Amino acid sequence: MSETPRAVRGMNDILPEVSGTWRYLESVVQEIVASYGYREIRLPLLERTELFRRSIGEVTDIVEKEMYTFEDRNGESLTLRPEATAGMVRAGMTHGLFHNQKQKLWTTGPMFRYEKPQQGRYRQFYQFDVEAMGFDGPDVDAEIIIMSARMWRCLGISKLRLEINSLGTPESRQRYRDALVKYFSGVKNKLDEDSIRRLEQNPLRILDSKNPDMQAIVASAPVMLDYLDQDSVDHFSGLKALLDVAEVQYTVNPRLVRGLDYYSRTVFEWVTDALGSQGAVCSGGRYDGLVEKLGGRATPAVGWAMGIERLVALYAVCGGTAPVAKADVYIAALGSGTLERAFALAEELRDSVTGIRVEVNLGGGSFKSQLKRADKSGAEVALILGERELADGLIGVKPLRSADEQESIAFEELAAMLAEKLSQR
Ligand code: ATP
Ligand code: MG
Repeated sequence: MSETPRAVRGMNDILPEVSGTWRYLESVVQEIVASYGYREIRLPLLERTELFRRSIGEVTDIVEKEMYTFEDRNGESLTLRPEATAGMVRAGMTHGLFHNQKQKLWTTGPMFRYEKPQQGRYRQFYQFDVEAMGFDGPDVDAEIIIMSARMWRCLGISKLRLEINSLGTPESRQRYRDALVKYFSGVKNKLDEDSIRRLEQNPLRILDSKNPDMQAIVASAPVMLDYLDQDSVDHFSGLKALLDVAEVQYTVNPRLVRGLDYYSRTVFEWVTDALGSQGAVCSGGRYDGLVEKLGGRATPAVGWAMGIERLVALYAVCGGTAPVAKADVYIAALGSGTLERAFALAEELRDSVTGIRVEVNLGGGSFKSQLKRADKSGAEVALILGERELADGLIGVKPLRSADEQESIAFEELAAMLAEKLSQR
């Protein structure tokens, strides 16, 4: 006997009961970023593995253990994108988008990481991603953060706090790195396996450790802000001043390093305590060196990515309810010739009444069962078409959400009557 098909672990179906909320949240977010002048770019789900190795960095959770990598039929190694920035930069280079141009872009879609699935952490998850290229900031850093703060406000999301930090330039980070190696080497016997390996290759990643046993050691480590170069200090002050003017509250978290290699200067994260241990909802920062590292002309860049599953969950926790899509009218048809007339009438209404949602009863059934379905559709009114109505050129209009009497109305007057009714919604 063949087995019932199962979904891949950590990969979810977004069912109709929740997809309306997804669509609503995505549309609000898209409208907000468009209002700041960001334009959509759509990117492939697959890129060459090499792109992620070079951009995200070899010594990162993603590249070490989370990528879905396989050989294409021609032997080339491909990877399902674990994040969007690398593909965005690759696309910009492919199409010369960064030559003497500035770009403000957004994209959205599924990302793939082989993680341990749990609440708020999946193997296929969705991100909404914003990137600005060609601006060295801190004005643009402030803009993308202020833009995210506006999203929370518009959606009534309050349980978030903003943490910011600066990682400085590669030079100041090198000095910091040396200090970290010195510190962690002194407490080497207390480090976990991952951290010992990272000590040689990428000591900053130790600060990003998710291991609770490491937290005390991490808490006493030297902090980046003490090693910042003056330009980065000024850059960071500029960002803070603009956030202050916009009245966006933040805390400086000197241990915030973010999981990817390519960040420089500004890093930030919107964090919540309302979703259990998966607290990062929107994270980002500046990555001035990435385009050059991938072989392009030096291009400053900054961006953030928001996890849509976590946004949906937080929206619910904050009491948000998205508008529910319901039918406006439901046409019940019973008797010879009535279905044909119902179909024609439905198309006429769709043509002439802007935005109307019309459902025609499918699959027959008694009047009683058709009216039950009409009620379930959420429609305001049922339109009732029997053989007698058909012969008289009339249709019954039965209000489903009020005690008003059913009335009969001529086919020709129906569209105008419904347009009037819907305009009062
Ligand atoms: P975390 O610390 O939770 O692992 P991260 O630092 O790996 O997050 P980023 O790579 O910065 O996350 O991705 C940006 C956002 O995408 C996160 O803030 C989070 O909201 C979301 N996200 C990341 N990984 C997952 C996942 N596996 N499932 C669901 N959402 C995720
Ligand atoms: Mg992660």
